[in-house]
Amino acid sequence: MSQDSRALILAAVDIVPLISQTVALKRRGRKFVGLCPFHTEKTPSFTVDQVKQAFYCFGCKASGSVFDFVMKRDRVEFKEALEILARSAGIELPQFGGKKMASGERQAMLDALSAACRFFENQFNAPGGGGARAYLRERGFDETTIKKFQVGLALDSWDSLLKGPVGKKFSIGTLVQAGLIKPRDKGDGHYDVFRNRIMFPIKNESGQIIAFGGRVVPGSTDPAKYLNSPETILFNKSRSIFGLDMARQKIVESRVVAVVEGYTDVMMAHQFGASNVVSVLGTAMTEQHVGVLRRFADRIVLLFDADSAGDAAVDRVVQLFLTQPVEIGVATMPEGLDPDEFLLKEGTKGFEQLIGGAADALEYAWKQLARKFVRESGDMTGQQKAAQQYLELLANARRGGPVDTLRWGGALARVSRLMDIPVEVLHRKFGKTGQKEAGRPISGQNVGESGSARPTGGRYLAESQVLGVLLIAPRIWGRVQTVMTVEDFADQRLKALAEVYWNHQREEGEPVFNEFIDSLKEAELKSLAIELADAVEELDLEVTLSGALQYLSESRQRSAEQKIVATLRRSGEEQELSEEEQVKLLVKLQESARRPDLRRVGRS
Ligand SMILES: [Zn+2]
Repeated sequence: MSQDSRALILAAVDIVPLISQTVALKRRGRKFVGLCPFHTEKTPSFTVDQVKQAFYCFGCKASGSVFDFVMKRDRVEFKEALEILARSAGIELPQFGGKKMASGERQAMLDALSAACRFFENQFNAPGGGGARAYLRERGFDETTIKKFQVGLALDSWDSLLKGPVGKKFSIGTLVQAGLIKPRDKGDGHYDVFRNRIMFPIKNESGQIIAFGGRVVPGSTDPAKYLNSPETILFNKSRSIFGLDMARQKIVESRVVAVVEGYTDVMMAHQFGASNVVSVLGTAMTEQHVGVLRRFADRIVLLFDADSAGDAAVDRVVQLFLTQPVEIGVATMPEGLDPDEFLLKEGTKGFEQLIGGAADALEYAWKQLARKFVRESGDMTGQQKAAQQYLELLANARRGGPVDTLRWGGALARVSRLMDIPVEVLHRKFGKTGQKEAGRPISGQNVGESGSARPTGGRYLAESQVLGVLLIAPRIWGRVQTVMTVEDFADQRLKALAEVYWNHQREEGEPVFNEFIDSLKEAELKSLAIELADAVEELDLEVTLSGALQYLSESRQRSAEQKIVATLRRSGEEQELSEEEQVKLLVKLQESARRPDLRRVGRS
C-alpha cells in the first residue's frame, strides 16, 4: 500500500537540506559532516552522503534513509514519517495502492463491523441465544467477561444480518468489503458469512472491531469449528492479535505476554485477572506477530497443550527464537487440561507460575525430541537420533532467516549445556561464523573505519568487498551471480545482507542505493550496507571485485583441500597453516586493486 508513496518520497526529498533543518552540516570532501543529533558528542562523527542519499554516524551507528532520519528525529512510526515527509515535499499520498479509497469508506467499514457486533450481541441475549449462553456458562464464563469481550451470536440463517438493521443501514459494497457478506456462487444476491456461530469480535490495538471469529454452536454439524473473517484492508491474519487491546496495559507493566491458542482461553485468563494474555488467529505465530508484541514485551511465552505441539510448531518456535530480538519461551499445560480448565482449577497464581516457569525455546525443543526418541527406540540409539535431529533443526532454523552473530553464539552455548557437548564441537559442526576470522585485523584496510569490533580476516574482507561493489554498481550483479550465490557468504551478517540484495535484484531489478537501505528492516544491516559501500568506493571497482572473487574461489578450493587433510588427521589440533598465506595474498590483491586508483588521483 505504501510502496508507491515510499518510492515517491525517496525520489523527491533530498537528504541534505532535510537534515540541515536540524543539524548544522559542513561539507567535507564528498560528504557533509555535523554533530550527531542522536548521541552526545563534541567532534562531529555524523555524516550525510548526498550521492547515496544516506546518513551514517561513526559514533552511535545511527544510519539510513530520509525515513529513518525522520523516524528517529521525531520518534514516530514509518507511516507518520511518510506523512511528515510528504507534507514538507508537497506530495499528495495515494491511498491504498492506485485506487483511491476515501477515509470515509474505511470508516464505513468500521461502523458496519461495529453495528454487526451490536446485532450479534442482541441475538446472543435474545431468547434464541439460550443455547449459546448456556454453553458459555457451562464453560465457566461470567456475565462480566461475556459483556467485556462483546460475545455475540450469528443465527442459523443465510441472511439475518443482511435482512436486518445492518443490511438496511450499510451498502452491499461496504458489507462485502468488511467481510460480513459474500456474493452467491450462482445467481444474484449475497449471503451472510457467519451462520450458526458464537461470535467473538477481533479488535485492533486501539479497540476498534476489524473482524470476527466464529465458533460453531454446540450440536452444529458444520465441520469447521472455528471461522475467521476473510482478510480485508482492516484485517490481516498474520498480524492481528486477539485480546491485545485489553492486554496491552498489563503487558507493558510486566514486560511479559503469554500467547494461548483460542479466544476462550484469553477470555478466561482475563476473567481471572491474568490480563497479559492474548492469542494469535489461525495456526502459527508469525514474525509479524512477534514484531507487534515485542513493542510491548521483552518476553513472549507460548502456552502449548501437553504433547499436542506438532514438529512444525516446535521448529517454528526455535526459528523465531533465533531470528527475533526477543526472548521466546514455551510453557506446557499439564496433561489433559485446556488453559481455561487449568485456570478454573489452579487459579491465577498457578497460571502465573506456569508462565514464569516457561522453558526457553531451545530447551523446550530439545526436551521434546529427547522424550520422543527415547520413548520410541530405547536409550542410546534414541539419544543419538534425538541429538542428530536437534542439530538439524537448529541448522534449518538458522537458514530460515538472518541470525545475529551474538545471538547465535549464545544459542550454541546454551545448546552445549543442554546436550552436554563441548561448544567448540558445535561451532565446528555449524561452520565457524566469524570464529576463525576473529582477532586478526588487517591494518589500515579494516572495513569499518570506526575501528569497532567487526570480524576481519581474508575471507570476510573479500566477501564484504564483493557486496560493497555490488551496492555501488548494481549492474555488475548479473556477472557476479553466475559465479557466486548467497550460500557462498560465510559470515552470517553478510549473508543476511546478500540475501536481501539477491532477492531485490531478482524481483525488483537493480537497487537504487537509498531505496535499498530503506528497504532493509534491521538498523544493523543498514549501517553495514553503508560501511561496505564506503569501504570500496574509492577503489577501482572492477579490480577490487575480480581480486575478491579470485580470493574467494581460491579459498573455497583451499578449504576443500583442508577438509580432506583434516579428515585424514582426524584430530582436534587442526593447524590452520594457510591462514597467514591467505591474508598475505589478500593484501597483495588489495595493492593491485589500489594501483589504478592511485594513478587516477595522480592525474587529476
Ligand atoms: Zn551518533
